[in-house]
Amino acid sequence: MNRTAVVFSPKYYRHNPGRGHPESAKRLRRIANELEKSKLRGVENWQFVKPEKARLEDVELVHGTEYIQLVEAVCKSGGGLLDLEDTVASPESFEVALYAVGGTLKAVNLVIEKKFRNAFALVRPPGHHAGKYSACGFCIFNNIAIVAEYLLKKFKLKRVLILDIDAHHGNGTQEAFYETSKVLYVSLHQDPRGFPGTGFIDEIGGSEGLGYNVNVPLPFRTGDQTYLKAINEVVKPVIRQYKPQFILVSAGLDGHYTDPVASLSLSASCYQEVYETIVNLASEMCEGKLVSVLEGGYSLNFVGKIATAAIAKMSGTFYNVDDKAPAIRERVREQGEKVIEETKKVQKAFWNIN
Ligand SMILES: [Zn+2]
Repeated sequence: MNRTAVVFSPKYYRHNPGRGHPESAKRLRRIANELEKSKLRGVENWQFVKPEKARLEDVELVHGTEYIQLVEAVCKSGGGLLDLEDTVASPESFEVALYAVGGTLKAVNLVIEKKFRNAFALVRPPGHHAGKYSACGFCIFNNIAIVAEYLLKKFKLKRVLILDIDAHHGNGTQEAFYETSKVLYVSLHQDPRGFPGTGFIDEIGGSEGLGYNVNVPLPFRTGDQTYLKAINEVVKPVIRQYKPQFILVSAGLDGHYTDPVASLSLSASCYQEVYETIVNLASEMCEGKLVSVLEGGYSLNFVGKIATAAIAKMSGTFYNVDDKAPAIRERVREQGEKVIEETKKVQKAFWNIN
């Protein structure tokens, strides 16, 4: 079996939220360039694959028809704001967003059909903030929620994990699966009080989904040490007990200390370690079945390196990224420890955690 599919097309450059907007095509160019460069260095254990365009019925797995039509209408009329803040569509955004959904579906299909062991969907616009009827936080259609729903409906899976490592809480994804046990949503993110206003420890799921929603809201400038502690002491044991049949990762790369949008103060080496853990968990739990979907990540100096480091881990190849973690303030470290302890206290009602 081939190792890693990287679903990508220059079509994704055509969504343009405007001059100076952080969610620019440049992000993806940096990733594609870094991957090409690394391929020249002999890293050939992965392969670019072209996306297909999603059908409307795929998008309707998560979004209301009226909302999909609204996005199409805004784009047809020349583009504009899709929410009250900063989610902007350009004339081609509707089509590109359909390719983002389609690219993510392609990644999942390639893995389900065992054509590749795992896949990374290098798509934009991102998705995890988008709700059933709403654009939010640069996101138009919720790519990862759509493919999770697709796995449940088409392949009758009963346990799909969405691990959200974007620096922001994936409010749209949490909402989509809040009342089901068939999708376990686990998110590590920065303090969500400013944005998006959800993602607190006590959001633990409802009805059938009670206990299947895990939020770890870390303080600003948390740094590698506390982040990895949360992964090891909360995320890992919960995932091992859930025994997912498929692992989806909302791969937000905006936790890096140079990111202009978020502030978790992580290093690129931290992402390498996180991906090593994810790849190992996938091998252990579900024969390696893993799809990463690009979300945020706005540091033009590092986004290419972090994505390449992640893909290297997924494809079992070597990629060296030289990056040192910044110093973390003692007070922040203590706050982070407190968050981890509080999360454990709440989640102990549902999972065996020490
Ligand atoms: Zn983000």
